[in-house]
Amino acid sequence: MKSSNKSSTFFLRGIEPMQKKKPPNPLSKSRTNWCEDKLQGFKKVLDKKSLSVVLFDIDYTLFDTAFFKESGLSQHKIYEEVMQVLDSLNEIAILGIFSKGEVAFQKTKLEKTGMRKFFEENNIHIFDDKDANLISVLEKYKDSKLFLVDDKLGVLCSAKKYMPQVIAIWVKRGPFAQNQKEIAGFTPDAEIKNLSEVVKIIRS
Ligand SMILES: [Mg+2]
Repeated sequence: MKSSNKSSTFFLRGIEPMQKKKPPNPLSKSRTNWCEDKLQGFKKVLDKKSLSVVLFDIDYTLFDTAFFKESGLSQHKIYEEVMQVLDSLNEIAILGIFSKGEVAFQKTKLEKTGMRKFFEENNIHIFDDKDANLISVLEKYKDSKLFLVDDKLGVLCSAKKYMPQVIAIWVKRGPFAQNQKEIAGFTPDAEIKNLSEVVKIIRS
């Protein structure tokens, strides 16, 4: 009997401090404000990220196609600034691909250079004929601020004709850009030589 009293006292003593502690009130004003601040913060990040979409061409834009060809298609290399640029842009925009070529062949370029992680599957658009698929790609992003980055003026021009609010960024490198003739009545929104300029354009 004595020992049972002792054990019940011990038991009560054990839970007593917990009963005395008041749990934090989840509806207290400071707690609610904290939650709201956090939610607003997340929302801002999501809004910012969902506002801008940047679609990159692969060859001569991200990928050093000249080097690849010289290596007999055995060495996959991106331009020097690309990784840093994609890393920075990934914080502020949705990144995608709009490229001409054979799907598996082009995807290998993304995989072997480590770029693949920046692009979600549903934002990778690779076609034999870019012009024929341009409208469907543009329509997919019609509610976003869409940036197209390409070394070929033709596709940028066609995109602007169909959807004037698209921001056309021409990368002037590689043989296509070097030999490009002017397109009457068309001037891209930006001409760049290095992709790090894309970060500045999107931030501005
Ligand atoms: Mg290209």
